[in-house]
Amino acid sequence: MKALVKAERLSKYFPVGGLLRPRGYVKAVDNVDLEIYEGETLGLVGETGSGKTTLGRLILRLIEPTSGKIYFDGADVTKLSGKELATFRRKAQIIFQDPYMSLNPRFTVYQTLLEVIKVHKLPIQDPEEHIGKMLELVGLERSHLHRYPHEFSGGQRQRIAILRALILEPKFLVLDEPTSALDVSVQAQILNMLKDLQRRLGLTYLFISHDIGAVRYMSNRIAVMYMGKIVEIGPVDAVIKEPLHPYTQALISALPVPDPKIARSKKTVLLQGEPPSPINPPAGCRFHPRCPYFIKGKCDVEEPQLKEVKSGHYVACHLY
Ligand code: SF4
Repeated sequence: MKALVKAERLSKYFPVGGLLRPRGYVKAVDNVDLEIYEGETLGLVGETGSGKTTLGRLILRLIEPTSGKIYFDGADVTKLSGKELATFRRKAQIIFQDPYMSLNPRFTVYQTLLEVIKVHKLPIQDPEEHIGKMLELVGLERSHLHRYPHEFSGGQRQRIAILRALILEPKFLVLDEPTSALDVSVQAQILNMLKDLQRRLGLTYLFISHDIGAVRYMSNRIAVMYMGKIVEIGPVDAVIKEPLHPYTQALISALPVPDPKIARSKKTVLLQGEPPSPINPPAGCRFHPRCPYFIKGKCDVEEPQLKEVKSGHYVACHLY
């Protein structure tokens, strides 16, 4: 499988207490290695503050990394500038959580999309005709062309935000909690549409969410983040049915199970305490203060590295 996106030892540290004399650094993303294969959806899960959104923005170079490399289609993204950077910005797009915040309330759908065409100097002869046709791609109608964002429902606004990305003919989309601001009834429609668009347009997705059910539905593989590190990554069914890392086990066991028989037989792993301070993370395994299987003298000393335990299934834990 060809990797469309590759991160190598990617880190982002945010200074705390002023840029000139920082008191310390929040290690939001710390030495992450990751590959996203062409045509797949990689789900990225973890608690709030685990670094998943920062990782998504780093991959798109919306923020500059502290260290490490990002490759897109073989090119080193950290070195791009000028025309090459502009091309990358077209090919790799992001869909945000709140479509209302990401659309200009004073622009109609047509004005919003025309702006994108102009900024990126797309060679489109008849923009109105082109945009009209593309509206159908996201389940909207030509009659919506000259309406403003406030005239649409939340789901329709997210469709417009998705279309704004698609008009650039991207290859890769970071979907950052794309349905969490929407009503439950609309969420499934948007997820189904994203799946359909992926199949029709050959897109590759990084799907960031705290909703493991949605991630399971959307993804081919899942990566689990904890305090800036990827602690487990593997095929979706393997990670959901046989989670290896104690943190993943806790996340999965917190999921509601519809069948009471299965629920009774399900092993429950309860997390102890709160996540530690990201400014001064624990030595060794960052999860050790909360881990029920903590091995004294090892887990608090030695940082576990990701290793392949089963085919394509990697975990960073001293138990394996
Ligand atoms: Fe728990 Fe040790 Fe594994 Fe960390 S390395 S998850 S503390 S058993």
